[in-house]
Amino acid sequence: MIIVISERATDAEVEVLIKDIEARGSVKAKEIVGEEKRVFGLVGDVAGIDAEALRRNGAIENVIRVSEPYKLSGRHFHPVDSVVEIGGMGGTDSVRIGGGHFLVAAGPCSVESEEQVLKIAQDVKRSGAGMLRGGAFKPRSSPYSFQGLGLDGLDLLKIASRKTGMPILTELMSEAYLSDFERDVDVIQIGARNMQNFTLLREVGRLGKPVLLKRGPSSTIEEMLMAADYVLMAGKAQVILCERGIRTFETATRNTLDLSAVPVLKKRSHLPVMVDPSHGTGYWDLVEPMALAATAAGADGLVIEVHDQPACALCDGQQSITPMIFDGLMRRIERIRAVVREAS
Ligand code: PEP
Ligand code: MN
Repeated sequence: MIIVISERATDAEVEVLIKDIEARGSVKAKEIVGEEKRVFGLVGDVAGIDAEALRRNGAIENVIRVSEPYKLSGRHFHPVDSVVEIGGMGGTDSVRIGGGHFLVAAGPCSVESEEQVLKIAQDVKRSGAGMLRGGAFKPRSSPYSFQGLGLDGLDLLKIASRKTGMPILTELMSEAYLSDFERDVDVIQIGARNMQNFTLLREVGRLGKPVLLKRGPSSTIEEMLMAADYVLMAGKAQVILCERGIRTFETATRNTLDLSAVPVLKKRSHLPVMVDPSHGTGYWDLVEPMALAATAAGADGLVIEVHDQPACALCDGQQSITPMIFDGLMRRIERIRAVVREAS
């Protein structure tokens, strides 16, 4: 529910009104930024709120019911694009995504050694990547596959971050490591398989760090936005959404990259949207065309797997591009961005 305050209402009247609404139960009123008038979004259990009675209140100009089951991530509640600020602490580069700021996160699927992650980090930074991705905790389908280096991997990411200045994006799979991630990670990734791990979503939201929320392989866009609301609920975190392909009947690709999710998400939500063409296709030679298409479709950024020796990678080598291919891709992304800017 959204309430639009009358221009005649004084600040004191608005304060009394909001206190009164919040006193009726588990409802929080959040002021909506970017509106000319004073507008509040009511989040929580609004069932007990009588919209007609509110309409009769002299301090209120209008009451609008929001039918979507997500609120905090929705454009109704936040009409302007959100800009997520990343890094900027302890010598780390300060980068942004959203509201016209484009960000590419690149790096290996998994952190394998100090030498490997540092070399790739230096290469992708030189080509223009703004953030280093790399898995320390890996969600592998088979328990016999490489599971990642865990906390040792996090330490290696920190070394690469310190030496290159790039902020770190890495996946958190369990609440057990919340404090390690809070201390060491710039953007906490919630992987596709955990998109509906509601306990983890709530806990990570409490940290107040930027969160990259990947779309579940079988999740709808609406489910993804409801998951984002779980993270935003604590009122501190900033969320970046990530389309990474969904499971369909198609077997020619690992997943079906749903690029229409980009304009749909941009229409329904104020949150920045990234696209991961590596997991989205599963094949290195499909990464470039889909990365360019995602850029043209209006994505705010890309997550790309890069490995210096894809054939020897401990995870996802078949979908990893080399630093040299990544360098060429970054140039073509810039050209697509220039065309999109010119055309819009
Ligand atoms: C990853 O980015 O390393 C990853 C495992 O992605 P997803 O959760 O999208 O499969
Ligand atoms: Mn991977």
